[in-house]
Amino acid sequence: MFEKIKPPEEGEKIRYEDGKLIVPDNPIIPYIEGDGIGRDVVPAALMVLDAAAEKIGKEIVWFEIYAGEKAYKLYGSYLPEDTLNAIREFRVALKGPLTTPVGGGYRSLNVTIRQVLDLYACVRPVYYLQGVPSPLKNPEKVDLVIFRETTEDVYAGIEWQKGSPEALKVIKFLEREFGIKVRRDSGIGLKPISEFATKRIVRLAIKYALENGRRVVTLVHKGNIMKYTEGAFREWGYEVAKEEFGDRVITEDELWNNYGGELPEGKILINDRIADNMFQQLLTRTAEYDVIVTPNLNGDYLSDMAAGLVGGLGIAPGSNIGDGMGVFEPVHGSAPKYAGQNKVNPTAEILSGALMFEYLGWKEGAELIKKAVEITIKSKIVTYDLHRHIGGTLVGTREFAKAVVENLQSL
Ligand code: NAP
Repeated sequence: MFEKIKPPEEGEKIRYEDGKLIVPDNPIIPYIEGDGIGRDVVPAALMVLDAAAEKIGKEIVWFEIYAGEKAYKLYGSYLPEDTLNAIREFRVALKGPLTTPVGGGYRSLNVTIRQVLDLYACVRPVYYLQGVPSPLKNPEKVDLVIFRETTEDVYAGIEWQKGSPEALKVIKFLEREFGIKVRRDSGIGLKPISEFATKRIVRLAIKYALENGRRVVTLVHKGNIMKYTEGAFREWGYEVAKEEFGDRVITEDELWNNYGGELPEGKILINDRIADNMFQQLLTRTAEYDVIVTPNLNGDYLSDMAAGLVGGLGIAPGSNIGDGMGVFEPVHGSAPKYAGQNKVNPTAEILSGALMFEYLGWKEGAELIKKAVEITIKSKIVTYDLHRHIGGTLVGTREFAKAVVENLQSL
């Protein structure tokens, strides 16, 4: 079934049956090293994840698959079918960052992977690790999980270059059919947001909140301006909450009218905020936000901003989740200027691995990884990005990961 890669002979496949992942103790897990600093952070993360697996009596059998520049050299394609098939087949993968040139060139490989595999939710927890420098006075109040829809919105890839026959055709169509005038020298992009995809991600976020003892789910949208896309996102979000979780979810109006502002035990609050307001709310009323669910573009901006509140991109993990499938990757990109220098912080990649452990049901392992990272940073063994704020012992990517492994082994 694969053209140029061969799955390892040891290890077993993760299966998905009746809506549940069945995870063996020795799963085969594909990984993509990625471009730029991928070659630094991914091997460092594998080292920590192996140590954590061993500590809980498991073993990960890694299977390298290719995307980006490494894939181009091997296949003449940046995203070979082999890679997509391996993720489909083995269901859970770890990924390093991939470069996407701005403007021309190829479409984002990250966006393509999410769309082709229907990994519709980009789930990014944002929490504070003690000892990490933060611009906030009380960074420990940050404890968010952002659910960003990733198959639609202006990221759907429906766009045409200025002057292209397609762009001109759309411009003429708009004028002829609707009397809408668009400048001829415009590039054109479309923003589809569907009821199906909105309800699917809001459902996932509410389920997550209920299963993980979260208290608030906030729909973040720009519905005051884009009424039939972002505004509809808000409406459909409330509809799912009411129709499918009516006995567990209350709105802000109900909170104040029926419960005097006190959230009753066993219920979660669903509310909504307009995106621009949300950016300042996260800074000024940090503790009030918990689970955030939002269309693609808002979610992209919000995730980086939220990551900045608790130490920056070097430590922010992420995941792309579909039904019975997950690809785990840091929020940061390939930072090409640092590639191969054994310099950058592997924490984001390591903590993405911790998320992967949680997804596999290996919660104990995930906790060990998080604790070991925290102990390492608290003892001020840090890479350049944190060192420039808090000083301490400056180490490289590999050495940081080794220190995490040592701390993990002594837990
Ligand atoms: P970036 O690669 O995330 O890097 C931006 C800056 O963030 C770096 O210059 C560095 O800041 C800091 N940073 C990122 N990773 C770090 C780490 N592990 N440790 C410490 N600091 C880290 O963003 P970009 O420069 O905008 O994008 C580069 C390429 O990555 C682009 O082609 C973009 O499309 C792609 N990208 C890929 C993904 C993905 O694969 N999912 C995500 C985002 C971007 P300082 O310079 O201040 O040290």
